[in-house]
Amino acid sequence: MSERKVAIVTGASSGIGREMAIRFAESGYAVVVNYLNNKDQADEVVEACRSSGESLAIQADVSSFEASKALVDQTLDAFGRIDVLINNSGINRDALMLRMKEDDFDAVIDVNLKGTWNMSKHVTRTMFKQKSGRIINISSVVGQIGNPGQANYVASKAGIIGLTKSLAKEFGRKRITVNAIAPGFIETPMTDALEEDVKETYLAQIPIGRFGSPVDIASTALFLASDDAKYISGQVIGVNGGMI
Ligand code: NAD
Repeated sequence: MSERKVAIVTGASSGIGREMAIRFAESGYAVVVNYLNNKDQADEVVEACRSSGESLAIQADVSSFEASKALVDQTLDAFGRIDVLINNSGINRDALMLRMKEDDFDAVIDVNLKGTWNMSKHVTRTMFKQKSGRIINISSVVGQIGNPGQANYVASKAGIIGLTKSLAKEFGRKRITVNAIAPGFIETPMTDALEEDVKETYLAQIPIGRFGSPVDIASTALFLASDDAKYISGQVIGVNGGMI
């Protein structure tokens, strides 16, 4: 069994997940870097994490119940415990409702919402036995306020908030906290893909006057995982520059 606390970060080969993996490693966690298909990038994150401690890359598609179970089992084989699960994997397939395809809805719900449920389900037994654990789900500001052209993504992110609040009520007696972070606009590969005029429109809605960076989310996740946050559960922490 690892002497370090163990954190699984899903979708950790890029963007916010990458930053969280590296910051958790720097703070003394053994970090499992889950990735879908970019092994080279995941290996680079593991390398960065290993300069501070232990880390392992594990491939898994979190939308698959079986693959999520294998990810949890491999983590337990390697480290013997799971202290923190960060459900960060996410995709978007934006389209206005008239043009949105059924596949676009199903794919986004499967990864974002079902993936969060799958991973939470598979760590439950371990965290119950440990009588401790932290689950941190990455939602989105749009899951709180809605957004045109993102009915699928927003439904998945609002669903994550409901899942978070329900699991917090179920798991509290086992001293497991479950919280969500709702990022605003954060500069990552997901938002790099947006057109300049769309970015300008978002920027105009941010009182702090800049886009967020992955470290803004990583530092919030580190706080929620810390002992200082042990009485915080079922909450949605907005990290959005004052947008709402
Ligand atoms: P990103 O595209 O860099 O990260 C998403 C990660 O999820 C990628 O590494 C991708 O490979 C992984 N992933 C996708 N499908 C997967 C699957 N089936 N199984 C496992 N991993 C999978 O973008 P990001 O901005 O870093 O996004 C991270 C999270 O933050 C997402 O949940 C996203 O919805 C959320 N978020 C981002 C912003 C933003 O402004 N960037 C705002 C709010 C919420």
